[in-house]
Amino acid sequence: MTSESVLTSIDEVVESGRTVISGDSSIVMDMVEEAMQKGTTIDAVVESGRTIISGDSAIVMGLLQEAVQKGTILTFYVPRSQFDPIMRQIWTPERIKEAKMESVSKEETDRIERELEVPCEGEILVTRLECPCGDEYGAFEFMQQGIRTHGKDWMNGVIGLKKAAIIRANPSNNPICPKCKQALATAFCYSWCGYYSCC
Ligand SMILES: [Zn+2]
Repeated sequence: MTSESVLTSIDEVVESGRTVISGDSSIVMDMVEEAMQKGTTIDAVVESGRTIISGDSAIVMGLLQEAVQKGTILTFYVPRSQFDPIMRQIWTPERIKEAKMESVSKEETDRIERELEVPCEGEILVTRLECPCGDEYGAFEFMQQGIRTHGKDWMNGVIGLKKAAIIRANPSNNPICPKCKQALATAFCYSWCGYYSCC
């Protein structure tokens, strides 16, 4: 199964108003056990080597906050209608300032659309980093690195999502300067066009 078709099948699950959470099997199995103890209703599905759990969206915010606090790396696929309310709780003006996130310019989004073929309809907020070599790392470099790491197939799957928005808790992608190739130690945060964000 390609990553694009996995994302398509997730989109179908989310359509029914449920949220899908995906992560390493050991982490997700712990969540399933905890949920069973608490009496939370969830389904565990194993798809292409990963464990995916799906549950009512009401439980998501709690799980999301728990993951952020514990530093657990998880991906949440939430119905799009819930993305904005969740984002308002996660990305408060204080946290946006703390993460040094800025709105991306029209000039940069034009370049992303033209050179990376990634649509930029809606607001994009990202941390703007400066590499010691003098080069900047922002939305373009982030998306370029994402495509290089995960492949164009994955990117197309993300763009192709119709019902789901992706929220990644504690993503492990470290920004790497495309010019001098050094890893930038600073955390890079992003919220992309109402369907893709870290937290
Ligand atoms: Zn550099």
